[in-house]
Amino acid sequence: MLRELLYPPRCLLCGQLVGLGKRLPLCANCDPGIYVPRGDRCLICSRPVETAGGRCVSCRQQERRIRGRGSFLYQDGMRQSVEDFKYNGMKEYAKGYALLMAYYDKDWIEAIENPFFVPVPIHTKRHRERGYNQAAELARALSKRLGAPLWEGLIRIRNTKPLQKMSAVQRGKSLAGAFRVGEGEIPPKGTAVLVDDIYTSGSTVEACAAALWEVRPEQEIRFWSLTIRA
Ligand SMILES: [Zn+2]
Ligand SMILES: [Zn+2]
Repeated sequence: MLRELLYPPRCLLCGQLVGLGKRLPLCANCDPGIYVPRGDRCLICSRPVETAGGRCVSCRQQERRIRGRGSFLYQDGMRQSVEDFKYNGMKEYAKGYALLMAYYDKDWIEAIENPFFVPVPIHTKRHRERGYNQAAELARALSKRLGAPLWEGLIRIRNTKPLQKMSAVQRGKSLAGAFRVGEGEIPPKGTAVLVDDIYTSGSTVEACAAALWEVRPEQEIRFWSLTIRA
């Protein structure tokens, strides 16, 4: 409660102050439901597609081994929110995001056998600059909310140039070998759920999966991203 008074909760989507003690950190004007992908979704990445049972353009162009879920579309208010979460110090948004992800994708996560959450790591240099890893904040919040283990054993050994303007093929090349399992780290039993804030081409989760498979080739892996780019 003291924390709430010192840092009154802000609306996840527009940043306005919201009343104390509200279950969801959202103002009366914002509805996260409008960012939930509607209709048929890609079998691999869950992006909206035109025809049922198919793959999106991106997953048709690149062989993707990791299936998963993007809870919200990376658009408008949600996009602004994620930018604030990532670059403007709003790491406390993680708790609210976890609540929304667990609410909208309840059926999806409940169907996964013994999930444990694995944040996509950032390089220590970037961590020092930003002060936190947004994916780790999110994974921690999901782990708490859903009562599933958190495993932070993946590390990023190579920093990459910003990926946003690269093609999927360039991203894949840039990320190959960028991650590994830390010395002495052993993933728990169950399904690894890679957690990230934005899913674009899947190159990042594929590279994380490759690192996990190096220590445990039979490891089941999914991804769960707060947002997905159209
Ligand atoms: Zn709002
Ligand atoms: Zn797809």
